[in-house]
Amino acid sequence: MAEAQPNDCIFCRIARGKLGTEFVAESEHSVAFRDLHPQAPVHVLVVPKRHFAGLREVGDEDWHVTADALALAARVAAEQGLYDGGYRVITNDGPDAGQTVWHLHFHVLGGAKLQAGLG
Ligand code: 5GP
Ligand code: ZN
Repeated sequence: MAEAQPNDCIFCRIARGKLGTEFVAESEHSVAFRDLHPQAPVHVLVVPKRHFAGLREVGDEDWHVTADALALAARVAAEQGLYDGGYRVITNDGPDAGQTVWHLHFHVLGGAKLQAGLG
C-alpha cells in the first residue's frame, strides 16, 4: 500500500513541482524528467506521482499506476527519438539492485549502444 506523500522524499517533491524540475512529459499518474547524473545520452526517469518505495510496494489495486508509468516511458522514448536505435527501461528494486532513491521510478536509457547484459 502506498503511504501518504512523504515530505522528505525527493521524488515526491519533484513530482509535486516543489523543486522546479522540468518535466519532459507527464501523464495522469506519472511525471518524467531527466536524470541528474545521466548514464546515457538520453536518461529520463519516469516516476509515479504517488509514493511507492519500490515495485514491491505496489498493491494489487494499484498496478494501473505502473501501466501508466510504462506507457509514459514508451511515449518518452518516442519523443526523445529512441525508437529507431532502441532503448532500455529498468527499475531497481532494493539494495541488491542498487536502488538509491526509495520512490518507485523507471529509467529510460538510450541514444547510444548500451552495455550488454542485465546484471
Ligand atoms: P536508482 O539508483 O534508485 O535506481 O536511481 C536513482 C536515480 O535518481 C539516479 O540515477 C540518480 O542520478 C537520480 N537522482 C537522484 N536525485 C535526483 C534529483 O534530485 N534529481 C534528478 N533529476 N535525478 C536524481
Ligand atoms: Zn516519494
